[in-house]
Amino acid sequence: MCLGIPGRVTEIYEAGGIRMGKVDFAGITKEVCLAYVPEIQLGDYTIVHVGFAITQLDEESARESLELFTEMGRLNEELNPEEAELAASFPPPRCGARPVKYLDEFRDPELAASMFAEIRAITTRPWAIMEVCGGQTHSIIRNGIDQLLPPEIELIHGPGCPVCVTPLEMIDKALVIAGVPNVIFCSFGDMLRVPGSEKDLFRIKSEGGDVRIVYSPLDAVKIAQVNPTREVVFFAIGFETTAPANAMAAHLAAQLELKNFSLLVSHVLVPPAISAIMESPVCRVQAFLAAGHVCSVMGTEEYRPLVEKYHVPIVVTGFEPLDVLEGIRRTVLQLEGGRAELDNAYARAVRPEGNLPARQMLGDVFEVTDRGWRGIGVIPQSGWRLAEHYRTFDAELRFDVGEIRTQESALCKSGEVLQGLLKPNQCPAFGKECTPRTPLGATMVSTEGACAAYYQYGRFTAASDHSIPLYS
Ligand code: SF4
Repeated sequence: MCLGIPGRVTEIYEAGGIRMGKVDFAGITKEVCLAYVPEIQLGDYTIVHVGFAITQLDEESARESLELFTEMGRLNEELNPEEAELAASFPPPRCGARPVKYLDEFRDPELAASMFAEIRAITTRPWAIMEVCGGQTHSIIRNGIDQLLPPEIELIHGPGCPVCVTPLEMIDKALVIAGVPNVIFCSFGDMLRVPGSEKDLFRIKSEGGDVRIVYSPLDAVKIAQVNPTREVVFFAIGFETTAPANAMAAHLAAQLELKNFSLLVSHVLVPPAISAIMESPVCRVQAFLAAGHVCSVMGTEEYRPLVEKYHVPIVVTGFEPLDVLEGIRRTVLQLEGGRAELDNAYARAVRPEGNLPARQMLGDVFEVTDRGWRGIGVIPQSGWRLAEHYRTFDAELRFDVGEIRTQESALCKSGEVLQGLLKPNQCPAFGKECTPRTPLGATMVSTEGACAAYYQYGRFTAASDHSIPLYS
């Protein structure tokens, strides 16, 4: 659910006072909300995330990204989540794991080779760079980028997977609410297999709970409209990329005066997480690759104070292999030159001011709050909750879930993985007790999770990676 998929706008129309449209994704057509991209016209290309267009894209970039998604098998996964999630319940065994790719498998091997050569040429000493986004982690592991870089450069996988960092307490609340008779519990597909303390949402569904996978939060609003006697709850998780879609769902529910719709909100924000990483006395991270799709919504400027305060380079980067390489190249250039600057290496999708209509909606519907991150703990002012005038749609207030006592798996080291203390294949349970078929932690479930990436791309051998804490 973390990625944005490029597609071509084939229809534009109004529905319920909201600008909507049809978007073609390499032959798969979906209804998409266009409210946040008023400039988009018929035939234009856009990046779509959970049913919402978040930014415009040029045709060449869109076509290249679509080819990549098709190659990665992610198109159906993102656009038809219910089908994909059922398939994911029966993933291939370890022997079907795909090995990492090599240089000649890059889309443009010559360009990739010259970028690797330049990075090698400019690197004179060790550097630790964190890629924040789980989509970037998958791109790095799938293409073996970390193995092709000079040994001085270590890539540390960051906590930028929304499914992975949703706190266990919130998963357990979702399980309680989903089990309430008369509730229709709607969620993005990834969340159904995330283990709570005792079970997951798939188990609630198999026990008779009405748990539904939706492509977009607007689908949950429609379900509430056609089921006026049922309580419909949407599990509103994610980073800044996903929050505008959930904000629109709350806004629309208010407009429609829906009394049977609510959101279980667990939104998290990237800049406070970067701040928490840098504040740790044992932090090793020397530069960040910031998540391009988050910045397409929020813009780049909220990173500038972090660059200045911590004297740390932050380079906004896409998720395609060459995007990631370019981000690393620009980062190493800064590090070697003793510079710390905010740099936008994803300018084809990210404007400095971000998406203003989306930011306006976010400011209206949400307010900043402290938020727990699974495996990390509470980070001050690192999340969003519904603002006072939308609190009537807060599922936590509507349902009395009682005291939640959480219990993480004793075997699971996902907290350390999320904090960069361990690489996934250094977890003793990796590939043994814990596989995508039998996940013990969220990082093995999510399509953006680091453990899932290491398993999917055959990284079964523990490397002699650093194990120095990033956080106190
Ligand atoms: S491999 Fe499994 S048990 Fe180990 S950290 Fe990852 S999710 Fe947890």
